[in-house]
Amino acid sequence: MATAGKVIKCKAAVAWEAGKPLSIEEVEVAPPQAMEVRVKILYTALCHTDVYFWEAKGQTPVFPRILGHEAGGIVESVGEGVTELAPGDHVLPVFTGECKECAHCQSEESNMCDLLRINVDRGVMIGDGQSRFTIKGKPIFHFVGTSTFSEYTVIHVGCLAKINPEAPLDKVCIMSCGFCTGFGATVNVAKPKRGQTVAIFGLGAVGLAAMEGARISGASRIIGVDLNPAKWEQAKKFGCTDFVNPKDYSKPVQEVLIEMTNGGVDRAVECTGNINAMISAFECVHDGWGVAVLVGVPTKDDVFKTHPMNFLNEKTLKGTFFGNYKPRTDLPNVVEMYMRKELELEKFITHSVPFSQINTAFDLMLKGESIRCVMRMEE
Ligand code: NAD
Ligand code: ZN
Repeated sequence: MATAGKVIKCKAAVAWEAGKPLSIEEVEVAPPQAMEVRVKILYTALCHTDVYFWEAKGQTPVFPRILGHEAGGIVESVGEGVTELAPGDHVLPVFTGECKECAHCQSEESNMCDLLRINVDRGVMIGDGQSRFTIKGKPIFHFVGTSTFSEYTVIHVGCLAKINPEAPLDKVCIMSCGFCTGFGATVNVAKPKRGQTVAIFGLGAVGLAAMEGARISGASRIIGVDLNPAKWEQAKKFGCTDFVNPKDYSKPVQEVLIEMTNGGVDRAVECTGNINAMISAFECVHDGWGVAVLVGVPTKDDVFKTHPMNFLNEKTLKGTFFGNYKPRTDLPNVVEMYMRKELELEKFITHSVPFSQINTAFDLMLKGESIRCVMRMEE
């Protein structure tokens, strides 16, 4: 490739300051170093996590920064030591990696890689502590090792899943974060059996992906729980059979669910980040066999409080990170499920805009109008 080994000049959306609209700038993208890959991004979606770090409320502010982590692209060139990927390969970048060597990567039970686990404060490559992005020589920080709001980006090989080149990147790009987080929480962790009742707390993109997991598992009843009544109509398209708004009742929502289901739901998946919803999701499961899975990220001072008798009564509480998927090993198979038409991704993609209109994608998410807005890098 003519560009390999050279600096590439391209467009990127730069966040200069917290909460200020992004600006499209010409950036220089350095060639990939050892164990790194330079990727041409074709599609990138916006996720709440990008918005949180752009707002930087309660987060370490790291600016100027190129955000973005949910995307699909094509390998442009590879650095020294990269043998698993070659120019032209289709890839999904992932905010958390898989080095394949550490104790976590060697364990069948974990996806929490020691080397490449998500680090939201680091704005540089792990190899040499430098950024690969500059504007007129001044470094611009990376975000969660992916920085996909750029036509080209440099990513550690351990944070890239090589996928079927036939897969439409404008659809499967959403699998690189939100979809797999929710879907995996249900199918890999809650594991509902055919015919069971599943409650989903929080009907944002993650909760709806968890609901898609309940649908394909053959749940007979899927109860959506959300404080926003407007979420019900949308959730019906995802197989939601009942809706409960905790605000409509004077008693705790777990009691409402236990009454509705004659003793409790078989599985509950919490996708809100709210501590009360986490406790309700646990307490609403059936004694003897019920399993609750926490996905939402709580605030710093939250404490989970429940009576230990709930555990003695054989209710199980679990939590998950990225749906328990190992990015490199598992994502190619999730893409294949879509290729076999087992998964419906289209219903998540409510909006699509050219990359130049990235601030529109932010507006849509802030107003709660989009589930996913996919941006195309080519106009
Ligand atoms: P979102 O804001 O779009 O959706 C959250 C929904 O929860 C909203 O509809 C809101 O009305 C509802 N809600 C809030 N408090 C509630 C309560 N007490 N009871 C019922 N409903 C309530 O968010 P999202 O993008 O879908 O993400 C959901 C959560 O998943 C967030 O906390 C996010 O940080 C987390 N997340 C976790 C992982 C992981 O690996 N564990 C990865 C990505 C995101
Ligand atoms: Zn590892």
